[in-house]
Amino acid sequence: MTVEAMGRPSPFRGLMMDDVPLTINWVMRRAATIFADRPVVTRTPDGGRHRYTYRALAERAGRLAGGLAALGVGPGDRVATLAMNHYQHLEMYFAVPGMGAVLHTVNPRLHPDDLVHIMREAGDRVVVVDQRLWPVWEKIRERLPALAAVVVEDGTGPVPAGSLGYEAVLARGEPVPLADGVADDRQAAAMCYTSGTTGRPKGVVYSHRSLVLHALAEAAVDSIGLSERDTVLPVVPMFHVMAWGLPYGAALHGAGLVLPGHDLTPVGLLTLLEETRTTLTAGVPTIWLGILAELDAHPGRYDVSRLHTMLVGGAAVPPSVLAGLRDRHGLTVLHAWGMTETTPLGSVAHVPAGVDPRPGPEGDAYRLSQGRPAALVEIRARGAGGLVPWDGSTPGELEVRGPWVAAHYYGGDDDGKFTDDGWFRTGDVVTIDARGYLVIRDRAKDLVKSGGEWISSVALENALMGHPSVAEAAVIAVAHPRWQERPLAVLVGRGSDRPSDLELARFLAPQFPDWWLPDGYRWVDAIPRTATGKFLKTALREQFHDALEDRGRDRRGE
Ligand code: AMP
Repeated sequence: MTVEAMGRPSPFRGLMMDDVPLTINWVMRRAATIFADRPVVTRTPDGGRHRYTYRALAERAGRLAGGLAALGVGPGDRVATLAMNHYQHLEMYFAVPGMGAVLHTVNPRLHPDDLVHIMREAGDRVVVVDQRLWPVWEKIRERLPALAAVVVEDGTGPVPAGSLGYEAVLARGEPVPLADGVADDRQAAAMCYTSGTTGRPKGVVYSHRSLVLHALAEAAVDSIGLSERDTVLPVVPMFHVMAWGLPYGAALHGAGLVLPGHDLTPVGLLTLLEETRTTLTAGVPTIWLGILAELDAHPGRYDVSRLHTMLVGGAAVPPSVLAGLRDRHGLTVLHAWGMTETTPLGSVAHVPAGVDPRPGPEGDAYRLSQGRPAALVEIRARGAGGLVPWDGSTPGELEVRGPWVAAHYYGGDDDGKFTDDGWFRTGDVVTIDARGYLVIRDRAKDLVKSGGEWISSVALENALMGHPSVAEAAVIAVAHPRWQERPLAVLVGRGSDRPSDLELARFLAPQFPDWWLPDGYRWVDAIPRTATGKFLKTALREQFHDALEDRGRDRRGE
């Protein structure tokens, strides 16, 4: 009980130093003064480079805020982006929260129905679209008539009819001084949707305070260790959990930023890493698999000796990638675990004190684990009988809480993911050892993670069971050499007809993005079930684990 709650005024009221609002404006202010000349380099759509500094970024973000205000955007309004990693997107990252509005980064790879759902639910007023992604917007714009569209020009042609050019918007209003735009750091700054385990995607809302604390935490040496001496190239898209918070982390700590635009090919990335002398880069394992193959194919072609950290998360790093990059190319992988709901910094896999840090099985076991929670993040795991001991062997569903962990989903449907005592249920089944190291053993959520993007098993199953020849369908994740996981459908037939794989794919195609379609279909007499009658997916996953090993088929194509 506080002194004031006991009926006496606190003698300390107003004297303490904790009422400075931690806002994105404050991050911008620091970058624009202390780190004014640090560089931001973007690869432009024509293959060229756009270069400027944090000073110029802040100046343009102020003009953008003025332009958005002239379009009618006010405090609390949502402004969506359908955009890759480039300086204009970075300007949105600062201008929109900086003017008190909310940045909603949208994943352009989603199905049009999901895009419409999330943009409606978020209540977006304006959408800023890369010209190259205009076809994505074209498909849904009629269903979202209230949204104004702004196009980030790529020089390939005129701005499409019915939209405004980004530069014209910047030129339109009076610049807004972003220095003190937001007074309350618990105000929403940004939002991002993630795949729900049931139903539609779920909206996660980031406050100014959570983003600033997260950016601060990224500099701890036992987390990512961001510093002014770094140049950071986030390969992770800016529509995936705020590019893992790296744009804000870089600006706060003065690291240079390199934004790769739309070219995420191994050659394109390696060329850019070399040329910009990048020191830290970040992305999902699929990206590093491609980079490793390119480095192996052309030893000595790329000088990436400045690169000290390749941050890998979003899916487990394969041991062969960690060892291959290190042993053949002298590159260090730093494995981390996180989620959209955790902004995403959850845990980082450094080797603990007292363990030999040199390459070898002991240290590598830690490097390949999901690591230890970042400072201020708390973890626990729950099994059938309650919280499990931290013995490194008893599995349980991981629960987390912390100042940058979501408290609810936007829109009111919590999907059963938050406990009564305020922890977030991750859906990852882990063991925790005595030092707090996590290892993911399984997944409680019924989803497939393919190249860093989610595919809903349940949605595919429901659609398949709508086929007249399918009585039961279970969709499972199976290992894939490039995408790590791909969906495989296990089916029980109805009647005597067994449609071909192609017929089934054609049946599903109108309802899902192409990369969601199963890579294979297997007919069985019966699907094993749990005691409660649910599909026993662990048994299916075991049975079909290698079902796609021989397949090089790529539905995910970029
Ligand atoms: P997302 O919200 O799309 O970032 O996905 C978060 C989920 O990705 C987690 O709950 C895990 O299932 C998975 N994930 C993230 N990082 C890792 C990792 N380092 N190892 C294994 N799975 C991971």
